[in-house]
Amino acid sequence: MSYNNFQLQAPAKINLFLHITGKRDDGYHLVQSVMVFVDVGDKIDFAPHDTLFLDVEGPFAGEMPQAHDNLIYKAAQLLAKEYGTHVRGRVNLNKLLPVASGIAGGSSDSAAALKGFARLWGLPDEQDRMMKLAQKLGADVPACFIGKPVWAEGIGEKMMRLPEMPAMHFVLVNPLVPTPTPEVFGRFRNRYSPPIQFSGRRKTMHEWIADLKNYRNDLTDAAMEVTPQIRDVLEALNGTPNCRLARLSGSGATCFGMYDTAEAAIAAVNKLKQTQPRWWVAPANLVK
Ligand code: ATP
Repeated sequence: MSYNNFQLQAPAKINLFLHITGKRDDGYHLVQSVMVFVDVGDKIDFAPHDTLFLDVEGPFAGEMPQAHDNLIYKAAQLLAKEYGTHVRGRVNLNKLLPVASGIAGGSSDSAAALKGFARLWGLPDEQDRMMKLAQKLGADVPACFIGKPVWAEGIGEKMMRLPEMPAMHFVLVNPLVPTPTPEVFGRFRNRYSPPIQFSGRRKTMHEWIADLKNYRNDLTDAAMEVTPQIRDVLEALNGTPNCRLARLSGSGATCFGMYDTAEAAIAAVNKLKQTQPRWWVAPANLVK
């Protein structure tokens, strides 16, 4: 492998909670959320090439849109236009995250693509400029570009890093029913949460869990109307030993369980894989 070749991870995002606090005149929903990233994600290989060559493999490659609709391709085009260069590179996406599943696989690929092409094309390290491009690519892309825990509000564009998170251990479960975000918002009945003040000053995982229990994912009912299997997933997670909290992420259908230790999370994974062999089940640890 040449030293010009490199691999980037596109980590899955989890919304520890997701409040919808209103809607702007232009139709965008106002949110408040803590978004974190975990050590489970897609893998993207980059190598120099004269033109753009995008190959997709992995368990969820078959559910991906045509190359030109791929968010990796869109990121490449936007970046090339911004810096007045042409799109090039050989890119291999190993699609390990389920598609349209509430854990921002596409957004995370897109954020990783901005970083990867910038490195491949030798562009200057300009974080603010890159964040503006990330915003254009999608609401979750700036958070994915940061890739570390953030408190997000507004339409997701106001972000504050949460640097002092404790270790957190999760189990991610998806019933493998694609759940498109627009359909879920279409069923959301505008039952808004009152805005909260959030300081992020919780130290231990127990403090976090106690606090998270006061919050919720406001899209849960709407997502369950689109994908009723979400109810079974939450029930199954709640039924695993030592599960401290089970909740939907984003617009679903992926749900997460939280556990005190990585061992407890792995025990839950083993149990779920036995009882529900058709579901996507993965242990995951917080990226701090
Ligand atoms: P979010 O949590 O941000 O709502 P999601 O996890 O629900 O995201 P994604 O997996 O990001 O959803 O996919 C959203 C849509 O984007 C899919 O319907 C898919 O067709 C399209 N898409 C384009 N490029 C990609 C990509 N590289 N990976 C996944 N989806 C992609």
